[in-house]
Amino acid sequence: MKYTSTRDTSKEFSASEAIVKGISDDGGLFVPSSFPHLDGSLMDSLLKMDYQERTAKILSLYLDDFTFEELLDFTNAAYSRFDSDDPCPVVKIEDGLFMLELWHGPTCAFKDMALTLLPYLIVGAKRKLAREDKTLVLVATSGDTGKAALEGFKDVEGTEVIVFYPSDGVSGIQRLQMVTQEGKNVHVAGIKGNFDDAQSAVKRIFNDREMNERLAEAGYKMSSANSINWGRLAPQIAYYISSYCDLVNGGEIELGDSINFVVPTGNFGNVLAGYYAYKMGLPVNKFIIASNANNVLTDFFHTGRYDVNRKFYKTSSPSMDILISSNLERLIFETSGRDDALVRRLYAELAEKGEFEINPEIIRDGVFEAGWADEDDVKDAIFTFFDLDDYVMDTHTAVAASVYNDYSCETEDDTPTVIVSTANPYKFTKSVLNALGGRESDAFKALAKLQTLTALECPESLSNLIYKPEIHTSVVDRTEVGDTVLKFVQKN
Ligand SMILES: *Cc1c(COP(=O)(O)O)cnc(C)c1O
Repeated sequence: MKYTSTRDTSKEFSASEAIVKGISDDGGLFVPSSFPHLDGSLMDSLLKMDYQERTAKILSLYLDDFTFEELLDFTNAAYSRFDSDDPCPVVKIEDGLFMLELWHGPTCAFKDMALTLLPYLIVGAKRKLAREDKTLVLVATSGDTGKAALEGFKDVEGTEVIVFYPSDGVSGIQRLQMVTQEGKNVHVAGIKGNFDDAQSAVKRIFNDREMNERLAEAGYKMSSANSINWGRLAPQIAYYISSYCDLVNGGEIELGDSINFVVPTGNFGNVLAGYYAYKMGLPVNKFIIASNANNVLTDFFHTGRYDVNRKFYKTSSPSMDILISSNLERLIFETSGRDDALVRRLYAELAEKGEFEINPEIIRDGVFEAGWADEDDVKDAIFTFFDLDDYVMDTHTAVAASVYNDYSCETEDDTPTVIVSTANPYKFTKSVLNALGGRESDAFKALAKLQTLTALECPESLSNLIYKPEIHTSVVDRTEVGDTVLKFVQKN
């Protein structure tokens, strides 16, 4: 399998090159040259496998410079760090409605599904390419990617991780998870601004010749742990296919039946991986894209106009407080029939004017629906699911649950539906407690209260944060991101 760039299809890369580089020199994103087909015999064999084997099998179709056995070693190691035998259980809420829980990893958010695996892929890919330089993993986070990258890469030989997070834009627990991070190759800094500012600053560094040269002098090459990296997206394809297999094995659907996925969306990485599974032949009726008050994607899928010149809202689902969704570029590339000239033109317009327009029918591709939820909707969803189904969910998942509720009322679509659940409720304790009628301003007292109220156990990795010293306290201006990177690197 070869890879090309969304902005120049004359280019060709191996899987290892795509993973190690992270982003193409022309500013485009790496995409596979075609989609492997999920035929009957492949589905039959996947049905009999566990999650680790399924993921290794699916990855082996895309990352063909690795053997299945190598990939299986990686998935076994990565998912041994999860708190349950099944890394991502499908939980039945009621007939025809399921939660795919993607938050049983070490940092309690869905980012762990890929970021526990990515270090193995990057180190392995460097070995395949006989590369000996150190890898500088540069991360912009809206809250969850940062911690997951820090945990995934801490003390991994030949790598250094730097995370930038919006200093006022993450939950108290999210912040503590990052600033208390241990490990000899990890650095964290707050950035004055929102996630889009952090992401733009990091992207600029990637494409800055002088920065690249100065880092090369220090022995480093940059890579990305954001979902612009193919090594982040590819593992996410697996859980869409695997959850489908689980529903078949559990007798909930017949092989071949179509299902819906509802996906709480920010940078469009999660739902795009689902779309790739669909392109492989997974039977999907609809992907329902759920946004919070930063509903730029809802408008885009309804009207075709993508306009980031709008108010930025800080919400109780901060990991989705994003206006510039990087992976939309990959969707436009695919749905436009791989038109790299169109992608170049639209992204030049976006850079210049902060907007572009395209026919919404093309983008929806007959399979996407979109909706959004405000703060009251989120509270209602958390309250109602707990009240009726005894199920506790986090604020991001609640955005999806609320949007699904609207969708099913409007359409009366009764296709079996999987809501993609992206974080442990304790990551957003105060908001969840508040929705359930409790109130507590101290984060750790709130953890205890939520535990008493719901009987859901709080993961130790979160309750133990109270004992950890804050190590990474610097907060920098967005213009200082480049200097901060150089400073961290030169410390070594
Ligand atoms: C990152 C994140 C999302 C959004 O996922 P994208 O891939 O950026 O669309 C949703 N929920 C949670 C909890 C997240 O951490």
